[in-house]
Amino acid sequence: MLKYDLCIIGGGPAGMMAAIASAEREKSVILIEKNNDLGSKLILTGGGRCNLTHVGLTNREFVSKFGKNGDFLLSPFSVFGTEELLDFFRKRGLELEIEEGKVYPQVKNSKEVLAFFKSQLKKNKVTILTNSEVKDFLFKDKKIEKVLLADKKEIQANNFLIATGGKSYPITGSTGDGYAFVKKMGHSITELKPALTPVETKEKWVVALKGLTLQDVSIRLNKEKGVLGEVLFTHFGISGPTILNLSERIKSKDKIYIDLFPKKNIEELEKEIMISFEENFKKTINNVLSEVVPFKLLSIILNFSDIQKEEICRNITKEQRKKLVKNLKNIELNVVGLLGFDKAMVTKGGISLKEIDSKTLKSKLVKNLYFAGEIIDLNGESGGYNLQMCFTTGYVVAQSI
Ligand SMILES: Cc1cc2nc3c(=O)[nH]c(=O)nc-3n(C[C@H](O)[C@H](O)[C@H](O)COP(=O)(O)OP(=O)(O)OC[C@H]3O[C@@H](n4cnc5c(N)ncnc54)[C@H](O)[C@@H]3O)c2cc1C
Repeated sequence: MLKYDLCIIGGGPAGMMAAIASAEREKSVILIEKNNDLGSKLILTGGGRCNLTHVGLTNREFVSKFGKNGDFLLSPFSVFGTEELLDFFRKRGLELEIEEGKVYPQVKNSKEVLAFFKSQLKKNKVTILTNSEVKDFLFKDKKIEKVLLADKKEIQANNFLIATGGKSYPITGSTGDGYAFVKKMGHSITELKPALTPVETKEKWVVALKGLTLQDVSIRLNKEKGVLGEVLFTHFGISGPTILNLSERIKSKDKIYIDLFPKKNIEELEKEIMISFEENFKKTINNVLSEVVPFKLLSIILNFSDIQKEEICRNITKEQRKKLVKNLKNIELNVVGLLGFDKAMVTKGGISLKEIDSKTLKSKLVKNLYFAGEIIDLNGESGGYNLQMCFTTGYVVAQSI
């Protein structure tokens, strides 16, 4: 039976990167994926554009986006950080563009990123098995000898990499299989929780705003200080990078307030609106305000302020104006709860870092086993951090065997 240098379980970003980087080092590699295609989650990333990484930060700043576990990444990042990842893509022909630190493929299409990975896998002669679910690991002399597939096939290798991802967005194949495998081998799994999770709100009017993104607004959780960022309305509530990053601290019954004009205080905004009403006294309020507030949201805010859309500016009372200003600076949303693993971007928790050598990503318990990607107890903020972590850990595994 053919024996590979490296057998990788999981054809996501971490597994594909490890496969390419080790095949480029002349290793024989097999990549096993249970779906009928590779990268099912990758193609959903960044709203279909793939936010591949985040530039402009030192390695220490970058790893701090992973909370207290981030220091584990310092060693892997010293081998393959953001600059090395950009070089990796560019040297192999994937052009990139940067928007406020976030790195995307220039083609603006995640399917092209997947096509890039597939072409590199092919070029480097990686054997790919799709529609092949790993069911078990078989041991000999305290080392893994082979994996057993659902169709009873066995694959032998000298080294094994588990890159099966977390358990969020299970529709993409990340169903948490890897946790069961490694538990059986004696590894500990820290508590698993959905992270970077959209928020469900009590307010049903959000449905009408589905797809609308508010940029440069202030978002305040309960009585905390507001943070500047963006809000994306969905059919069930709100999402978008700022909300996802806040989600770890959001719970049911919390209140979230959106300030559409964070750079102006109430008095300044009221004065500005008053002047605008005076200048446009014959126009409808809808007409005047739709220049500064998105149309659909404006209808809702006017409704809250007991003002008819077609009302002429000169007819707006002082009381109505005050209510309007208050609503523009304080849209209140009541949290029902967070969407669970089904819709979480990542999984918090995973294989305990204490049991993984950070220089090699090798298991400290099983001699020929490695880990990469989201299965490890590492989860970062939204903004390209998680994919970079997957690429970095995958790459380092490839250098370690
Ligand atoms: C909607 C969405 C958008 C996102 N956007 C971004 C973004 O823009 N930027 C960013 O940095 N991060 C983003 N993320 C997070 C990022 O996609 C993940 O962190 C990343 O995909 C994890 O990569 P991975 O290789 O570890 O695992 P995965 O991508 O989960 O891949 C694991 C693979 O293993 C396979 N597998 C599992 N079990 C088995 C088995 N038993 N046998 C064989 N194969 C198996 C699965 O089918 C899967 O294909 C997003 C996540 C979601 C859900």
